[in-house]
Amino acid sequence: MIEATELSDMLTDYFVPFLGKKLGSPEASFQAEENDNNLKVIIYLSFPMDMKFLEDDIRKYLSARKFETTKPLSFEIKFKISAYGNTNSQPISGVKNIIAIASGKGGVGKSTIANGIARTLVNFGVKVALLDADIYGPSQPLMQSILGEKATSDDGKFINPISRDGLQVMSIGFLVDEKSAVAWRGPMATSALLQLLNQTKWGDIDFLIIDLPPGTGDIQLTLGQKIPVSGSVIVTTPQEIALLDVRRGIEMFKKVNIPLLGIIENLNLFTCPNCGHEEPLFGCDGGKSLAENENLQLCGSIPIDRELQESVDKGDYNYFSRESKTQEIFKEITSNIAAKLCSLGKNPKSIFPEIKVEKV
Ligand code: ADP
Repeated sequence: MIEATELSDMLTDYFVPFLGKKLGSPEASFQAEENDNNLKVIIYLSFPMDMKFLEDDIRKYLSARKFETTKPLSFEIKFKISAYGNTNSQPISGVKNIIAIASGKGGVGKSTIANGIARTLVNFGVKVALLDADIYGPSQPLMQSILGEKATSDDGKFINPISRDGLQVMSIGFLVDEKSAVAWRGPMATSALLQLLNQTKWGDIDFLIIDLPPGTGDIQLTLGQKIPVSGSVIVTTPQEIALLDVRRGIEMFKKVNIPLLGIIENLNLFTCPNCGHEEPLFGCDGGKSLAENENLQLCGSIPIDRELQESVDKGDYNYFSRESKTQEIFKEITSNIAAKLCSLGKNPKSIFPEIKVEKV
């Protein structure tokens, strides 16, 4: 057991990426095991990240500390995802965490990013669903390559989400055509969305990503109050006008007591494919200074990426499984959001179910 003890001692000083806490803390417990032939570390992580990245990072840390072993060293990383935050209302059955992806205005890449986060979470190995709540322009059916499909129901009460390569998808676009949804007024739109959320047969989900409609009007406010959102993320471009809209979004989430997990800056740099020159077409570092001023985390900045645009717009979500510089950024963003959510602590509403007193 000598090597396992030495290894354990060294690992308790290792800072877990994105979490900012050391291995051995409640969010990242571990044990080192040893037998005659092997040395093994088992890590129980309360939030997901790229397992290979974590293992490589720990191996680098150990070799920098000159850890030596005579036996092969292996790692097993297990995710133990709970319900986090303190939601406005009781969590929805079958769904541990809801993360709302919002934007102050349309066209900043909110749906692309909701798609990227959901797909990256699937790749990390947790159970994920995506609800397209963008009532006036549902784009997830296209992005998930299920355009034209209709949701079905087994019992006439609950609707089955459509599953594609590990992601459960539900969209307002499955139930109504775009033309009739556009004519809906606020209360109609919110009640349709709430129904969609509550009457979908979600199958044991760790993270439900909601692609909210753009803006900060009544629909978004009511949804924020009525949906048990664990945390929200705001997508912006670096321009000042987008940032003004974002400030309104920040105020809205504060008003309804939904924790803001951070900001994502999209379309921040364009790299010329011919000469490699980088140009901030939509301004520079706006999201960074906004995050600093508002005391929020900048979860990441995504460059203008033609391959991302082409893939997403034709429903090739496998883009998010292919290695690229942009996908590395998506992994970083997704891990940052998940770690931030986990740092909010366990949701007391899911630990202590609401007690209903009924007359008999
Ligand atoms: P929103 O949901 O905010 O209205 P979308 O996600 O639908 O925005 O994106 C609008 C358009 O911008 C889409 O054609 C999408 O492919 C493209 N797009 C989004 N992010 C990027 C990016 N980082 N690089 C290139 N194109 C992008």
